[in-house]
Amino acid sequence: MAMSSMRTMKKDQKDHTKLICDISEISGLFQDSSTLETFLQKIVEMIADHMHSDVCSIYLLNEHKGELELRATHGLNADFIGKVTLKLGEGLTGLALKELRPICERNASQNANFRYFPGLGEEKFESFLAVPIIRGTTRIGAMVIQNTQKNYFVEDDIKILKAITTQLANTIELAKLILSIEEKPAVPSEEKPAPHLKFIKGKVGAPGFAYAESIILSESQLSLSDNLSTWPALTVSDFHQALGITEQELKTLQEQIEEKLSDVASMIFTAQILMLKDKAFVDAIDHLIAQGLNPPLAVMQVVKEYMRRFENLPDEYLREKSHDIRDIGYRLLKNLLGRQNETLDYGGRIVVARELFPSDILKLSSQNIKGVILLSGGVTSHLSILAQSLQIPLLIADIAGLLDLPARTKILMDADQGNIYIDPGEEIIRSFKNKIDDHLGILKSRDDVTDATYTQDGTQVHLSANINLLGDVKYAHMFKAEGIGLYRTEFPFIVRSNFPGEEEQLIIYKKLIDSFPGKPVTFRTLDIGGDKVLSYFDHHSKERNPYLGLRSIRFSLSHIDIFSQQIRAILRAGVSAELRIMFPMISSLDEFQRAKGVVLQCMKELKKEKIPCHRLPQIGMMVEIPAILEIIDDLAQEADFMSIGTNDFIQYMLAVDRSNEKVADLYLPQHPAILRALKTIVDAARKYKKEVSVCGDMAHEEKFLPYFLGIGIRSLSINPTYLPKMQAAITKIHLPKAEALTQAILKEKHLKEINRLLGIPAKS
Ligand code: PEP
Ligand code: MG
Repeated sequence: MAMSSMRTMKKDQKDHTKLICDISEISGLFQDSSTLETFLQKIVEMIADHMHSDVCSIYLLNEHKGELELRATHGLNADFIGKVTLKLGEGLTGLALKELRPICERNASQNANFRYFPGLGEEKFESFLAVPIIRGTTRIGAMVIQNTQKNYFVEDDIKILKAITTQLANTIELAKLILSIEEKPAVPSEEKPAPHLKFIKGKVGAPGFAYAESIILSESQLSLSDNLSTWPALTVSDFHQALGITEQELKTLQEQIEEKLSDVASMIFTAQILMLKDKAFVDAIDHLIAQGLNPPLAVMQVVKEYMRRFENLPDEYLREKSHDIRDIGYRLLKNLLGRQNETLDYGGRIVVARELFPSDILKLSSQNIKGVILLSGGVTSHLSILAQSLQIPLLIADIAGLLDLPARTKILMDADQGNIYIDPGEEIIRSFKNKIDDHLGILKSRDDVTDATYTQDGTQVHLSANINLLGDVKYAHMFKAEGIGLYRTEFPFIVRSNFPGEEEQLIIYKKLIDSFPGKPVTFRTLDIGGDKVLSYFDHHSKERNPYLGLRSIRFSLSHIDIFSQQIRAILRAGVSAELRIMFPMISSLDEFQRAKGVVLQCMKELKKEKIPCHRLPQIGMMVEIPAILEIIDDLAQEADFMSIGTNDFIQYMLAVDRSNEKVADLYLPQHPAILRALKTIVDAARKYKKEVSVCGDMAHEEKFLPYFLGIGIRSLSINPTYLPKMQAAITKIHLPKAEALTQAILKEKHLKEINRLLGIPAKS
């Protein structure tokens, strides 16, 4: 409907400039507004007064219902507040918001779109002007002014009302958010019907079982489980006391996590502690309290504003940090209201999130979550690897409805099979009873694990441990690992807020070496980039293809200072150990020699500085890049040992992103190209009498064991929790039979046949 033409009329002088200035200081309106309704009411009164209109009303959009609700009015029947609703597009007001344009009518009741509410008292107001309240393209509501006099509003009024609502939009939106919390304090279940999810098949990122209530990490609401109106009136000193308690709480969490995860957890809660000390943050809350807002509301308002700022940042990593801010908000509210015991966090719950960062999962693990369900990520992604080390079952299922599950939905995760049961019935729960009670039964000490591992016919196979966190070492001991075949040194780097220096690394590395005396320890040098992003180093945002970018050894070689610090720390920590240094992602002989040159240079310098260090470490490389198949002989002669990182090798050979669940079906370790390539690598290593092992996830899959042994692999490095299972499987293998099977596999061209020979079931 076109806006009606208007005639300019003479009216009393309206001081619009003053009104706009007044409104730009809108927070002043909070003063003695004990409730948000009062605040909205003050706005409508102020606008009606300045615009000389008989009526001014505010309608707010309820997104869940797709309806506008009358929330404040001056001039209409106030009994209708909260009762008058309009669909988007319905009535002149609904239309103004739907079409995002002002609607001005000189004779509103004659308009076909006019919506009549008996008793509201609108019919006598002929002149009508509705202006949408929007922030960017986000619809917040509508501001309506009305007058009994026909043709009352003129072009200028439209401009002015638009200017006023633009200025007010942010504040009204905030008020609306808080109001919506007040209305729906606990679970938004009535508003949002639970999606009918019963069973979901996910991909296994980290095994285990969990049965617990869900918590959705993307919930942007900030509320406690009760109604705002029951909150007591508090003071600014209550707020400052709550700040102190919250800071102490975070410090305690930090101490606990440092005790448990000393290698990676440094300063993990520091950013949050700093925020509590941030003057701007505290001042903003103080300011609102000084203006008369109850402290919990002031906290909510400022926290929401900060969350919104973070959510709007272009950097994905920083955007996700809005969780941290919400967490601060929760804690402050809880402590303000004296609910120290309220469990508002993640303890004992299954966390459902679109995505998580390594620091998130560490924090969550420190709060004893039961499991994680992610919508994105890959099973060999580093988040999964970290979850394995933290013993947190993790499943990946790209089902958007998961994020809409009502809070505290019961979920049963069978992260061995990849099954997710939502609100499972008694029968399902019973069938998992043992596993739920003992979801990490695999970790119980197994008396039958032996020091050395032999096939049925007596061939020795060496089993070493992959270590991601120092906490893994106890399992490596428990299950009698013969050494550490892969220590992923990047985890302490990933979680910190800055590069750890030589001395800091030295402490961590020494702990590792000391915990494994007399056994070989393989340090894989820094492997960052790809999905292992450092928050403090801006490599991610600049790279279109991070997996093909400045990753791994490439990063180290282009930051020799960082690389040298790490090598020095390793050489110093390993002074009297059976030390092995391994470079990831080597793509050429020159690259390997450059990296080795850095080690030699560091040894020379340490000697000159008279600092004790290892003088003759074994220097090896990971086989991860397909190009080296063509130069494998050259590398096998140069390196002291090789370890095949199948996670990356498969990703690069088959051009399938290991962290993208959309192509997970194409990520096929049994692809004939992979199997034949493995043989080429092993043949070269054996020709030059160099040790070759497998340290990617393929190494802990029993179905590949006969093939590995059949091509001559005698050393595997795996997550320690898999050691008992793999040892048991090896003892059942008869080498001549495995070799015969391998020959048969190598002759096959088709996946179907290879699958059959390896015992991989056909896809249903
Ligand atoms: C691999 O790529 O197989 C490997 C062991 O290294 P990461 O998983 O740490 O990339
Ligand atoms: Mg790798």
